[in-house]
Amino acid sequence: MNHFEFRDGVMHAEDIPLPRIAEEIGTPVYVYSRATLERHAQAFRDGLKDVPKKHLAFAIKCNPNLGVLRVLARQGYGADVVSGGELERALAAGMAPEDIVFSGVGKTRAELAQGLDRGIGQFNIEHEPEGVALAKIALAKEMTAPAVLRVNPDVDAGTHAKISTGKADNKFGVGIDVAPEIFGRLAALPGLNMRGIAVHIGSQLTSLAPLEAAFTRVGQLVAELRAAGHSITHVDLGGGLGVPYKADDNPPSPAEYGAMVARVTKDWDVTLMFEPGRVIAGNTGVLLTEVLWVKPGATSPFVIVDAAMNDLARPALYDAYHDFVAVKPTGETMTASIVGPVCETGDTFARDRVTDKVGEGDLAVFRTAGAYGATMASTYNSRSLVPEVLVDGDRYVVVADRITAGTIMAAERVPDWID
Ligand SMILES: *Cc1c(COP(=O)(O)O)cnc(C)c1O
Repeated sequence: MNHFEFRDGVMHAEDIPLPRIAEEIGTPVYVYSRATLERHAQAFRDGLKDVPKKHLAFAIKCNPNLGVLRVLARQGYGADVVSGGELERALAAGMAPEDIVFSGVGKTRAELAQGLDRGIGQFNIEHEPEGVALAKIALAKEMTAPAVLRVNPDVDAGTHAKISTGKADNKFGVGIDVAPEIFGRLAALPGLNMRGIAVHIGSQLTSLAPLEAAFTRVGQLVAELRAAGHSITHVDLGGGLGVPYKADDNPPSPAEYGAMVARVTKDWDVTLMFEPGRVIAGNTGVLLTEVLWVKPGATSPFVIVDAAMNDLARPALYDAYHDFVAVKPTGETMTASIVGPVCETGDTFARDRVTDKVGEGDLAVFRTAGAYGATMASTYNSRSLVPEVLVDGDRYVVVADRITAGTIMAAERVPDWID
């Protein structure tokens, strides 16, 4: 459920007609709905009503915009961060340091020190040398780092290969078979408070079965660690819940997910931590674009829009599907390929798709663009960095400016030894 709906034949974001944003801000532009964001944040929390002790950390890599983060901070969400830059964003958005979890397979020593200096709540350790380094840095600062060990449960998440993270041959976590020995060695180090386990098997999961399999293995590991005398107080179950991209997609709801989690973990007696990203932000945003040209093609016409793979990379990266919908649909349809202006054949949003009939100058949106959209944007082809707008009822604010080629060039220089 989202707040991008038609009124009098025109798509609105809450109470704002999208043509108004196109006219005042220009296209392409991301448009987010605050009400949708809040609804999704609440729905995820409600889904976990039978989990007594929980901590919610929004995976901010999917949408790190400060305005978006502030909304979620007000909803009581902390942050799951994967870099020092994201850590600073979470703090700048008003999230409490103790509500920040630091994930990521390649944290630098400087980032580990930064996390300690900022007083974050938890480090998710990806392998033994990282834990050893963190212990050393913490000890030198006369601190103790709260930490959990990320395990790789070797389950197939059943999602796109590029966003699967829990198979034995993925780069994330330590093998669940070797986890007890590694945990034991790390737990013995002064400077570390090894308090639990983390798992995250992938993104855009459309079935609960792989999640349940992974959590069940983690439950066995927790029992094994306790039997070995360790105190396990926290288990981080990661993120990964999928969202509908197509009308007939039917991923598990937060309520179904929460019921499964409550059932599988009922005897664990830990604080459960969650790192939802896409399920919160995905359907809270659209990418608004204008049709530049319609050009004949071999199989169907090309609808060339002013948004491109540099603005929304998911189709080029993962063959991802985004609904393409006219802002003022006429009811007529056409079969077309939707492409951007970038000089790559990969700059294709849809091939030979039956879609709303659009022509030159018409506005349209790519739906479900609130997660892994603007955050992956680049300036390839010297295009501007796409701006972002947050709508709240009948008002909106540009929460990220359009960064033009001029601004990018201002940060470059030509060596004076080239004459
Ligand atoms: C990306 C990521 C998430 C969020 O994944 P979603 O599919 O967006 O929910 C959570 N935890 C970790 C460690 C991640 O890398």
